[in-house]
Amino acid sequence: MKKLALHWKIIIGMVLGIIFGFIMNSVSGQQFVTDWIAPFGTIFINLLKLIAVPLILASLIKGISDLKDISKIRDMGLRTIAIYVGTTLVAIIIGLSIVNLVKPGTGMPQDTIEKIKIKYENDAGVTDKLAKASAQQDAGPLQALVDIFPSNIFQAMGEAKMLQIIFFALFVGICLLLIGEKKAKPMIDIFDSLNEVVMKMVDLIMLFAPYAVFALMANVIIAFDDTEILLKLLQYALCVVGGLLLMIGFYLILIKVFVKKSPMWFLNKISPAQLLAFSTSSSAATLPVTMERVEEHLGVDKEVSGFVLPVGATVNMDGTSLYQGIAAVFIMQVIWPDGLTFTNQLIIVLTALLASIGSAAVPSAGMVMLVIVLESIGFPAELLPIGLALIFAVDRPLDMCRTVVNVTGDATVSMMVAKSLNKLHDDPRPKEWDDHYEE
Ligand code: ASP
Repeated sequence: MKKLALHWKIIIGMVLGIIFGFIMNSVSGQQFVTDWIAPFGTIFINLLKLIAVPLILASLIKGISDLKDISKIRDMGLRTIAIYVGTTLVAIIIGLSIVNLVKPGTGMPQDTIEKIKIKYENDAGVTDKLAKASAQQDAGPLQALVDIFPSNIFQAMGEAKMLQIIFFALFVGICLLLIGEKKAKPMIDIFDSLNEVVMKMVDLIMLFAPYAVFALMANVIIAFDDTEILLKLLQYALCVVGGLLLMIGFYLILIKVFVKKSPMWFLNKISPAQLLAFSTSSSAATLPVTMERVEEHLGVDKEVSGFVLPVGATVNMDGTSLYQGIAAVFIMQVIWPDGLTFTNQLIIVLTALLASIGSAAVPSAGMVMLVIVLESIGFPAELLPIGLALIFAVDRPLDMCRTVVNVTGDATVSMMVAKSLNKLHDDPRPKEWDDHYEE
């Protein structure tokens, strides 16, 4: 077991967790899993979230103060945003092309639609998403901008408001540059050391990962009780998964062509973060591991990763926007075919882009924002609960898959930005550091 690479240990944990979940389903042991197994998954996610905020602060403040030149920040910021928008547009176009070609929603039997309606239309999960979406919409058009500026940094940290924390860290980093090296040094040293401590914490927490994913997967499996409806939605689910796989392929091409690195090497190094994204369905919870992998295994300099990854976890969600494109058109194919116009699909491109920026990096956030995408094309309000009900049964597994793409996209872009700024190191992690990772 000691010699096994970390990602294999995690995969074994996942597979055993899935098998265990099915066994528990068959012996009606769901309650046992909820009471005695699932809490270990929650502890693991809590630990990751615990270190996410200090990690962003330390790594971004340290990174920015290392830049030595404020104009570089603008340069890095512009590149990052441009590539993020570009990859998200590619994702939406892939999604829309697939769903229009395959048409998974046309010809769905009426009795299936009725069954889904009865089962999920008034489900707490569906009504909760609708309520969250309407709360989000009630805010004014510039609210998203206002939300970037915290009035109290401790509150921002307490509520893990990523963009607010990023803003604060940038602000501190820039001021450290402005006050000059002598005065800035003590504070930079503190953040440098904090960064090292948090990175070590990630290493230690990851020792627990194979067991935690066992708990997380077992907990996911016990929630699947209606395989009949799942099978009816298989074509739609396969469209999303197919699109997500194409997106991963697209990233690998970018890694090969722009970063000039081997795609297999990239996958091998980033895989623990991908597996955690899959098990937790949250890019925010995965962020500490993504940062550790990108900095210490892929060789991206901290000043790039400290900015690109936390921003990406919040605003760059290629998997989510691809899914939103497919889900919106699928729902229209089933219950509102009149809405399937070219103009509406163009509006979807734009709103899915904005929606993925606005989606929180937590489980099923993409579905909340889907409501807003649908409303932007004039989707009849009375059909919304049925629309969400249609995709609800398969949302969790698709959430797991799209989160993998969200995280992989962030890692890819961080490598591209680092390469373009000459901030990619060749030998990121000397062999002697590898006390428990055998790769
Ligand atoms: N769960 C996704 C993430 O954290 C967001 C979503 O698509 O629901 O990246």
